[in-house]
Amino acid sequence: MPGTIRERMEEREKEYLSPYAALSICSKGREREEAECDIRPVFQRDRDRILHCKAFRRLKQKTQVFLQPKGDHYRTRLTHTLEVSQNARTIAKALRLNEDLVEAIALGHDLGHTPFGHAGERALNSVFHFAHNEQSVRVVERLERQGRGLNLTWEVRDGIRNHKTSGTPHTLEGQVLRLSDKIAYINHDIDDAMRGGVLTEEMIPKEIRRTLGDSGKRRLDTMVHDVIVHSMDRPEIAMSAEVGQAMGDLRKFMFSNVYMNPKAKGEEDKAVHLIRQLYEYYIEHLELLPNQFLEALERQGEEKEQVVCDYIAGMTDNYAVKKYEEYFMPEAWKN
Ligand code: MG
Repeated sequence: MPGTIRERMEEREKEYLSPYAALSICSKGREREEAECDIRPVFQRDRDRILHCKAFRRLKQKTQVFLQPKGDHYRTRLTHTLEVSQNARTIAKALRLNEDLVEAIALGHDLGHTPFGHAGERALNSVFHFAHNEQSVRVVERLERQGRGLNLTWEVRDGIRNHKTSGTPHTLEGQVLRLSDKIAYINHDIDDAMRGGVLTEEMIPKEIRRTLGDSGKRRLDTMVHDVIVHSMDRPEIAMSAEVGQAMGDLRKFMFSNVYMNPKAKGEEDKAVHLIRQLYEYYIEHLELLPNQFLEALERQGEEKEQVVCDYIAGMTDNYAVKKYEEYFMPEAWKN
């Protein structure tokens, strides 16, 4: 019997997990080598590091889809992340994949999201270059811990980098996350859109509801079940053609009715404007950046455009608004 608790857990993974799972002991490792923990295998340790980082806590004040919603029950980037994690763990557990790896990727996947959701992302991409999945990797590799990064394993960073629809994660755990993200946002964005009066159950096309179910709860259940049944004992994470098609149609429906809805879009243009103004202002006033970012500029030779993007992308919605008021609004006009 091997010595530490961690070593015993690593042995159990070999016996218990699917032959297609990523074993902790087979990890390609960290950027900088470090001593192993005697209790936790590597992916479990990465999950804890992400949960304890500052960027994770800021997710609570970042938009999911609805900008600064008034109600307490709308999703934020944090509750989205937790729902993604829950779906992904359910699927991973059923398929006997590495639940710790899936959870670490889930908790980290959106750390790079800008304030104001995809509007913020569009704004930064229009002035420099920005993609939230790449930014999430920057957060864990270079921005957290005052620029030292979290030193996560290769598998977790690969899953974060490739979580977008166009990406191809190298582990099945990464693939589970990518699909769980989509399943989560389609379903909870429908729920929030109904809460906001943008959508009713009847507006969702009949054919889609016939395949997936006619309530949020049923649709979520159908999708998760379908992934599990069609990925069991296979080296691939997949859905049945029928459910996959219906989910794709539902996603398209959401794009034309909710994500691109003119009512929501009008507000988004204001958010784009705000972020672009902040960007231009910081480019002209680099001295206003916090020390960590000035150091990246001076000592690590990062481009100023990149550093300003890093700073703005890390802001919460509230902080971005506060900074905008500070720089652009006369004192007397506030409130
Ligand atoms: Mg996400």
